Amino acid sequence: MPQAMTDTALTLFNSLTRQLEPFEPVHPGEARVYTCGPTVYNYPHIGNMRAYVFADVLGRALSFKGYKLTHVINITDVGHLTDDADAGEDKMEKMAARRAQSIWDIAKHYTEAYWADVKALNIREPAHWSVATDYIDEMLDFAQQIAPKHCYELGSGLYFDVSTVADYGRLARAVTEEGEGRIEAVDGKRNAADFAIWRKTPAGETRQMEWDSPWGRGAPGWHLECSVMSGKLLGFPFDIHTGGIDHREIHHPNEIAQNQAFCGCGGLSDVANSGARLWMHNNFLVERSGKMSKSSGEFLRVQLLLDKGYHPLAYRMMCLQAQYRSELEFSWEGLGAALTRLKRLVMQAERLADAGVADLSTALVNPKFAPLIAKFDAAICDDLNTPIALTALEEALAVKKVDAAIKKAVVARMDEVLGLNLLGLSRPDLRICPKDAQITEAEIDEALARRKAARAEKDFAASDAIRDELITQDVEIMDGDPLGWEWKLGE
Ligand code: AMP
Ligand code: ZN
Repeated sequence: MPQAMTDTALTLFNSLTRQLEPFEPVHPGEARVYTCGPTVYNYPHIGNMRAYVFADVLGRALSFKGYKLTHVINITDVGHLTDDADAGEDKMEKMAARRAQSIWDIAKHYTEAYWADVKALNIREPAHWSVATDYIDEMLDFAQQIAPKHCYELGSGLYFDVSTVADYGRLARAVTEEGEGRIEAVDGKRNAADFAIWRKTPAGETRQMEWDSPWGRGAPGWHLECSVMSGKLLGFPFDIHTGGIDHREIHHPNEIAQNQAFCGCGGLSDVANSGARLWMHNNFLVERSGKMSKSSGEFLRVQLLLDKGYHPLAYRMMCLQAQYRSELEFSWEGLGAALTRLKRLVMQAERLADAGVADLSTALVNPKFAPLIAKFDAAICDDLNTPIALTALEEALAVKKVDAAIKKAVVARMDEVLGLNLLGLSRPDLRICPKDAQITEAEIDEALARRKAARAEKDFAASDAIRDELITQDVEIMDGDPLGWEWKLGE
């Protein structure tokens, strides 16, 4: 087991108990985490990606504290309806029909697009990407085990009776204080909150994705998928289940109810009966105009940030500047400010390029670094307070008159948690270069070299001409730039 830097306990906010709780692993020395992944019917927006940056920082923090991490993120390729409750159409079927493509092709395309964003944001690969359609047999087993005591059949499917488990909806009530969230009526349901765990294909219809079951041909419900994959891969109870705050209303209460049924039906006064010891939720990324959407307004994808010339890690920086439980408002100015902050860090880290890396133990006893390491560790242990952790990293980079190898060890260790790739990036990586720019970076560098030569020879007419020529191509030369950046392309 890797050595933790200090003995401070990692404290995390449990949405189910509404309390900060010290992390106590189910299996000594291990941390098993399940994250609700994307439904691959469309590209993720950057708000969705905030959920995975959060889960990534959580995983990195657990590794940092010395736990052996097993992280699972699922890929939902069946069963998620356009409304989280039992209403609407299957998102995948709907997109496939609109595109006249097979669901499998749609799923492949958007899974790969999601993975590209994961990579761009320096999110670590989980131990397992569990794909829902790979677990149909296990879902049928799980459903058959809980059906006799907890489910009933209607014409449209097999439904879970939420009155058969204690404390149904506690997670939602903890949030709203008003019960079960939005629930659509389905004829014959015993309780408004009952939900389908198996949805039958309507008579006379065929669906692209359907399987035989004891309740007829059909497809699993979305909530069933996550219960089955998390239990199968991590074992009940596992340590932490994560998702965005919207999941506190329907998806996670329903997963919890199924897990209680599967595990022997204990109430939630023992949180482990929910299937996980901790339920953690990231707050939303919002736009000034309100909720982030894939259909209205500008579709804010990681690719759009890239097209506008921003390095994707500027967006990661933006996420880290807020604690995960705070709402975060996206704006292009905010993204620009995060980029500038990242540039400053990279400039300082570049000075360490030629240094070796000292053993971290030397930093822990160094009077300049020890307090900063303690500050960083305390911030991370305080429910992943990344805004404070970032300032500790900045202060470490700014320490003067120290052995560069020790500084490098500290920066590397802190950045293992924050994931900004500070020692891998260089200034040119962070220049704003929009996709539709008319000029290449090599051409800009070549023009700047000619301009430098002209200025050295005091040929200011020639140097001005080169600058004017660059301006017509949207290149702004930043002679007096305090960051020492030489140019940027217009936005
Ligand atoms: P989905 O693909 O719709 O299931 O969403 C993927 C993840 O993104 C889930 O954990 C959601 O809770 C989360 N999510 C959705 N919208 C936002 C948002 N605007 N900000 C942060 N997380 C979000
Ligand atoms: Zn889920």
